[in-house]
Amino acid sequence: CGIVGYIGHREAYPIILKGLKRLEYRGYDSAGIALYDGNEIKLSKTQGKVADLEQKLEQEISTTGSIGIGHTRWATHGVPNDVNSHPHYSNSGDLVIIHNGIIENYESLKKELSNRGYTFKSDTDTEVLVNLIEDVKKNDNVKLGKAVQKALNQTVGAYAIAVFDRNKPDEIVVARLGSPLAIGVGEDEFFIASDASPFIEYTNNAIYLEDGEMAIVRRNKEVKVRKIKDDSLVDPYLQELQI
Ligand code: GLU
Repeated sequence: CGIVGYIGHREAYPIILKGLKRLEYRGYDSAGIALYDGNEIKLSKTQGKVADLEQKLEQEISTTGSIGIGHTRWATHGVPNDVNSHPHYSNSGDLVIIHNGIIENYESLKKELSNRGYTFKSDTDTEVLVNLIEDVKKNDNVKLGKAVQKALNQTVGAYAIAVFDRNKPDEIVVARLGSPLAIGVGEDEFFIASDASPFIEYTNNAIYLEDGEMAIVRRNKEVKVRKIKDDSLVDPYLQELQI
């Protein structure tokens, strides 16, 4: 299973697609990509191989956009099928998420959200998480980064996630606990991936998030890294990768 993301000035799709292929060795049963083209989020996903996704996606959506996230899934909650594949939207359609890992308390969270009127298309724990983030964002009237942090503090489990908001598509929020996540730092562009292999050809500067850390990755800005639990700022360690 793997995660790839891009925010910058290039076309995101070829970077993400190639990145997902580089992460195939990690094993997976489904794949999907969401792209933002300045207007709307476009999403395509499928059970099967990244090559299957490539075929399906290029028929379903236009591949333009300089922000995007891609995922290979190793199903833990919900069978491998198209609907359970990632990315997942929140109910409003504003937020889109990819997730590797397991949200262990997803059932009780799902019940609470259902009581508040949320509906679920998939059987995944991940769709619960993205709606929890949406719920916190609305109720507490906070920005995406804060909402992700507050939502994650209500979860038990393991994750590497990337999420963005179509109303604020100049940032991607990422977080990790128990699953790897690296941020490739380029010039006015950032790459997100489970390991450095998807972005090593574009940059050799990387920040490896530690367990329990989250980051807000903004175009043209420095990456802000925080501890999910207590909100303390972490000085990100920019590592030079050996090529
Ligand atoms: N638990 C999530 C799911 O089953 C993510 C699985 C993964 O790590 O790919 O959809």
